[in-house]
Amino acid sequence: MRKVLVLASGGLDSTTLMYDYKKNGDHVEALFFDYKQKSKKSELEKLKYHCKKLDIPYHIKDIELNWSSSSITGSGDNLYVEYRNLIFLSYAFSLAQAMGFDVVSYGAIKGAGYVDTSLEFMDNMYKIAELGGIKFETPYCNLDKSEVAEIAMNLGVDIRETHSCNHSNIPCGKCDGCRIIAELMTNFFSPKRTYVAEGFQFTDKWKRDYLTAPINEFRLLINNKCNMNCKHCFHGTTQSHREDMTIPEIEDVIRYICNEMPTNSIHFAGKEPFINDDIFHYTKLIDELNKDKIQKVRYSVVTNGTRVLHYLDQIAEANFEKVSLSVDSLTKTFIRSYSPLKVIKALLEKEVPLEIFIDVHKHNYMEVPQTVAKLIELGVQQFHVRAVSNIGNATNIYEHLIEPSEYLQVLRGLMKLNIPPTVDLSMSWYKTMIDGIKDDAIADLIMTNPVGIELGGVYVFVGLYDSLMESQATITSDGYLLGTGFEISDPLYYKNSVGNVRDEDINTLINRAKEFYIDKIINEPTYIVKY
Ligand code: SF4
Repeated sequence: MRKVLVLASGGLDSTTLMYDYKKNGDHVEALFFDYKQKSKKSELEKLKYHCKKLDIPYHIKDIELNWSSSSITGSGDNLYVEYRNLIFLSYAFSLAQAMGFDVVSYGAIKGAGYVDTSLEFMDNMYKIAELGGIKFETPYCNLDKSEVAEIAMNLGVDIRETHSCNHSNIPCGKCDGCRIIAELMTNFFSPKRTYVAEGFQFTDKWKRDYLTAPINEFRLLINNKCNMNCKHCFHGTTQSHREDMTIPEIEDVIRYICNEMPTNSIHFAGKEPFINDDIFHYTKLIDELNKDKIQKVRYSVVTNGTRVLHYLDQIAEANFEKVSLSVDSLTKTFIRSYSPLKVIKALLEKEVPLEIFIDVHKHNYMEVPQTVAKLIELGVQQFHVRAVSNIGNATNIYEHLIEPSEYLQVLRGLMKLNIPPTVDLSMSWYKTMIDGIKDDAIADLIMTNPVGIELGGVYVFVGLYDSLMESQATITSDGYLLGTGFEISDPLYYKNSVGNVRDEDINTLINRAKEFYIDKIINEPTYIVKY
């Protein structure tokens, strides 16, 4: 096994390089330079995120380059930092020789145009490294960014978790780094956005794709208990139809999904997954099952946030790809009885990847754009905005539900924000909402596309989006398998299920479910969004 030291900055090229060596079975360590660059905080956060995911150590070296007038460190308008790579490589070679690394690798790509990124420069560095018995490698030096992005995609690198803006910790959206990343995200990493932009038709091809596509994500409802009584709760008081599964039964389900199904991810839900510490049995099991896999099964969780501080260290130690938190306000919450700001800050401080669901109702719709702006400032990168519906506990709270025209104001407010390209902001828009604003130009736009559109950096998903685009299945806490869009919020959920995982294997149920739901999606679309 070779010992490889990768010069890493948290950007796309060096991050991809780490995954590449790791996949080859090398022992990989990362070396990060803190030279007072303006984007240091985000670069380091992204680096730590991937090192944790890949289970590789990192070294941080503080150096001074304060004579440079580069815009990366100072107020100049040029990205070039005088001989920066020569300085980086000198440190890297020294560390490599002292600590017995076989290889030093640098993610240089073609076309940067600086003296210390040129092929001549790299040729000399190969020789200098060789003098000391070290191999210097630059495997991407003949590739451009999009070619590296393709490698990244094949290796399962999440480009949204890289930082390529040279000017600030929050991507400025204007520099070359941000522009290239935004293009790559559209071309390679956001198929759902491309779908959304292209529109949708129930073609035979779509049907074939739907039936043959692997299940991207299993939603695993690990309990049917909650410590709150939120006014908008989808679940309401729905009781389990059968006895809830035990820990060993849920572990069996997880083993089957990880070992037998071509599935990328498991999303833990339930009424409240952190009601107790059962969930950490499951995250540890997935980590264990992932150990020898190149394509690891990712996992995420949705929580009401109230128990997060109690389990903060365990949450940070687990490898959640995402923790989704529902909030309505950072200050005077109407739906829930606690203020989530402390929880959000604690999770960000622990570098836990966070997604915020913003629930919109009569009492908070005016402040939603400010809430999003504040959270972006704090470092949150993913949002989903949705209107509270009159289902579950909210069945009779009509006076708190938002009017379509008010929801439209939220959309307009969000569109006015200068949303950085790395921030993912989407909004659900149900048919009843659209029907309520028939004459509006934006509503017309949405109505021309049954899936959704992009409006000023906000991705507006309409009605059936999830059912049509996401290959997702839900397993309820009592073992019933449901298709996308079907939830335990339906008191008769077990009647809409194609069977129970305690009675039949999951693969058989999935095949049956796809045939069943495709019929419902095409012929009876309102069936899915009846909640
Ligand atoms: S919305 Fe979530 S947190 Fe609130 S009562 Fe329902 S299950 Fe519990």
